[in-house]
Parts: sequence; structure tokens; C-alpha cells
Amino acid sequence: MATEIQIAAKKLACFNPATGELLHEFVCSGEAEVREAVARSRVWQLPWYELSVQKRIAILGKFQNLLHENKSEIAQAITRESGKPYVEALTTEVLVVLDATRFLIENAHRLLREEPVPHANLAMRTKAGRILRQPYGVVGVISPWNYPFSIPGTESLAALVAGNAVVLKPSEFTSMSALHVGSLLYEAGVPKDVFQVLPGDSGSGVALIGSGIDKLVFTGSVPTGKRIAQLAAARFLPVVLELGGKDAMLVLDDADLEVASSGAIWGAFVNAGQACLSVERCYVQRSVHDAFLAAVVNKTQRLRVGNGMNPEIDMGPMIHRRQLEIVEQHVEDARTRGARVVTGGTRLPELGPNFYAPTVLADVTHEMRIMREETFGPVLPILAFDTEDEAVQLANDSEFGLGASIFTRDRARGEALARRLAAGTVLINDVVCGFGISEAPHGGVKSSGIGRTHGSFGLEEMVTIKYVASDRLPGIKKAWWFPYGAAFTRQIEGLLDMQFAASLKHRVQGARRAAGCLFGKKL
Ligand code: NAD
Repeated sequence: MATEIQIAAKKLACFNPATGELLHEFVCSGEAEVREAVARSRVWQLPWYELSVQKRIAILGKFQNLLHENKSEIAQAITRESGKPYVEALTTEVLVVLDATRFLIENAHRLLREEPVPHANLAMRTKAGRILRQPYGVVGVISPWNYPFSIPGTESLAALVAGNAVVLKPSEFTSMSALHVGSLLYEAGVPKDVFQVLPGDSGSGVALIGSGIDKLVFTGSVPTGKRIAQLAAARFLPVVLELGGKDAMLVLDDADLEVASSGAIWGAFVNAGQACLSVERCYVQRSVHDAFLAAVVNKTQRLRVGNGMNPEIDMGPMIHRRQLEIVEQHVEDARTRGARVVTGGTRLPELGPNFYAPTVLADVTHEMRIMREETFGPVLPILAFDTEDEAVQLANDSEFGLGASIFTRDRARGEALARRLAAGTVLINDVVCGFGISEAPHGGVKSSGIGRTHGSFGLEEMVTIKYVASDRLPGIKKAWWFPYGAAFTRQIEGLLDMQFAASLKHRVQGARRAAGCLFGKKL
């Protein structure tokens, strides 16, 4: 099948998922190449860090201008490689990176600056403490195909502005989009060895983990994430793992059904359902279930599916046949266990090799794969619930915990429910778009991952925290040094009483006994 990656003599070939056309061939990066790239990055990382955060921010400013100037060309390249509609390439890829750059330009200096640490402990008040946020060194980024520009772009920019060098191993299906991040960064002034893109497959990813990098930011599936966590644990390699999701959408009985039904179909079918934050399960309060289902089906049947380069389509193809087959298996499993395929449920071979109709399922149960495993395709299964407690129990009955959404006209009701959902992000009256909010941390709980990207928490993942304390009385020996002795022990007891005794009387007595304790050491 033309849309599958073909690996022959360490070559990777990428195809347009809408047409099957061959787009590029790449040499797959081998272990030695990966190791050499990381070694080069290590040499260049220190001067990059010493350049100062202001100068790195200035380079990000140039990057932002260049990306804006070249937005159409880049969005078209993303569409050709990933299949998503051109307008989605503009909004969920180019715009997301432009805005993440804006966030870093506006905030990186403040978020990365040194911070004084006041000491309340009497014995330590003579020290001036500071927190330094320093780069890890070389950060490895391994990224997936579904957002092939914005995921490696936003993660790499945060790592770079913090003073790290980056070695990026993009998905074998979408290397070109990642290489565009590199060409813009180089033109903006990032040295070639400070940011390197190594096209490659899973073996290249394994090689990167073993190459001596100082931190790994991985985005991909749960099974790969688990394998990576094991490899990283053996090396004590710190990791951020942004993994899969099975996001629940709750539609409460007071929701605006016109809005909620539009939100549901966008949440389920944006990027042909291949978003980590896709709406993959929809729970609707029973009194509005039938009206909601009817609205969803009606709107789904009006969606236009086709080549993403055509501005008149809403949904493109799936990335490759393997992903399409997973969707078919989940729908078939649901069908044989009693689910109703209300609309869709078929391939659309007349459009191209990887097209699947936007699909709505009713009468689903939690025994079905469609409600338990990540489907990652254009399928919206809908299930009725009676009470809020039941909705929370159903939403949390999942190994995943990436995102969730709640539709209600009552904000307080929505926010109260949000606290009870096991998810990294909960949106009220919207879906999916948390990834595009540059200030918002992105990441999950349970099997959906470890750590965060984006916003201040994402930037914090790119630095190590170092504490430095300078003693302001360098000519004085410290009380807690040798020698010990009975008198000194009594003074220490007094010191403890002085600070922590419950009554004022005991604190005053303690202060008398402690007198002189902090000074006058002989050794
Ligand atoms: P994947 O896990 O198959 O591959 C992701 C990346 O890991 C690719 O670059 C791949 O070459 C590499 N890789 C594969 N095996 C590896 C190994 N053993 N060691 C090192 N690297 C390895 O995922 P995918 O199919 O590319 O992407 C889809 C998945 O990504 C979905 O599960 C989706 O939910 C998830 N995802 C998560 C987020 C998030 O932010 N949480 C965002 C986008 C996608």
C-alpha cells in the first residue's frame, strides 16, 4: 500500500495520505549518526546558553516573523504530509506555534530569572539563597505525526529559549514538517548544531534515548511511552511523556444542544479524529440524549470529506492504512456487541486510500473497545447517563486521563464537575483547544503521561533547579560544626524551644539558654 512507510536500505518514504503520492524519501538516522549529532549539540549548547535569554528571545522574534511570512507555504506542506485541511494546518499548527512563540517572547525572561529564597529559620538567616533555572543540556524530542509541526515546534522552542540544545526525532510519517521548524530556526539565527532534526524510525528513537541526552520530551502512544519510560528509567533520564487520550465529553441536561452538538462533531472529527485531545466518548444526560443525538447525526451527515487542499472540505483522510484499520476494528467490535451505527461506519475508497466516513455510534457500553481503547479516528460514540455521579463514574472509568469537556449553561455546575474528573485539562463549553492556549499547561494523568508541556509549567520542564546560598558572615564558624559537647547541646535545646515551644514563657527561657549558641566555635 502506497501510504505505508517503506523501510529499505535504511530509507524512509513519506506519502500524501490523501492521494498516495510519494512526497519525500529520507535516509533513516542510525545509532552512530544520532550519537554524533548529540555530541555536536553538546559542544554548542554552552555558548548558546551563555548568549543570554534576551538574545535567544530576539532570535525567537525573528523566527516568529519568518513563520508568519511563510505561513501559507508551511501550512500547505503540513497538509500534503498529514492530510489535514489547510485551514487546520493554519490554525492548529502555524497559529499554535506563532502564539507559543509570543508566550515565550513575553514571559521567558521573567520565568527563567533567578529568584531569591528568604530563609525563616533563625540559624540560616545569614545566608542569601537563590534559585537558578539552568538548562538540562541536550534535550531529545521525539514527536508523532498528528500535529507534525506544532508538537515538535512548541516543545523545541521552550527547550531552546531556556538555553538547551535540541535533537529532534520526528515521526517517520511527517519528517518534512519537522524539517520546516529547523529551516526557520536556522534562518532566524539558531546555530545548526543547537537544533538538529534527525529523520528516523523507532530505532532512531531508541538510539536517541541511549545517546546521552539530558532530558527527553516524548509525545506519542501509551504503548511506546511505556517502552520509553523503561529505557529512560534504566538511565535515570528525566522524561516528559505526552501520551494518548480517550477524552470524555459530558453534555448536561441544561446544555445548549445546538452549541454542544457542534462542539461534539468538531471535537470528534477535527484532524479526522486523530488528536490526542479528541472527543472519544460522549456522555449525554438522558432527558436530552435523543435531541442531542439527532442534532449530531444531522450535522455529521453535512460534513464534507476530501483532500485537505480543497478549502471546501471539513475533514481529510486518516494518516495511513494501519490507523484506518484500528478504527474499523473498533467500530466492528462495537457493532457486533450491539452498538448502533447511526451514520458512517465505512471507508470512502472513492476519495482516496485512507478516507473513513465520520461516524456516530449509539447504544454503546463500556465493555466495547470503542469506549476503552484510544481509537484515534473519526468516530463519536454516545452514551446516556442519568445522574452527575454516574457521569463522573463513567468518565473516570478509563486508563487514560488527558482531557475532558463539559457542556452546561451553569458555569458553577460545570466547574464543580470539572474538579471530579481525572484529567489534565477540563474545558467547559469547548473541546480540544486547550493545546492551543499557550498559557495553559498541556499533559495528562494516569496512562496519559507524566509532566507538562506549554505555558510556564512546560518551560519549567526544560530547566534544572539549582539552589545557591552565600553566607553573609563568611568569617564566622557555624554553630552546627564541630566540636559538640554538653553545653552546646543545652544551647541547641534552648534554640529549639525558642523557635518552636508552644508558650511564650518557654520560648523566652529557650532564648536565654540558646544565647551565644550561634557564635564562638573553636574548631
Ligand atoms: P507512536 O508512539 O507510534 O510514535 C511516536 C514517536 O515515537 C514516533 O516518532 C516514533 O518513530 C517514535 N517511536 C516509536 N517507537 C519508539 C521506541 N520504541 N523508542 C523510541 N521512539 C519510538 O505514536 P504516533 O502513532 O506517532 O502518534 C499517535 C499517538 O500520539 C496517539 O496515541 C496520540 O494520542 C499520541 N499523542 C499524544 C499527544 C499529547 O500531547 N498527549 C499529542 C499528540 C499525539
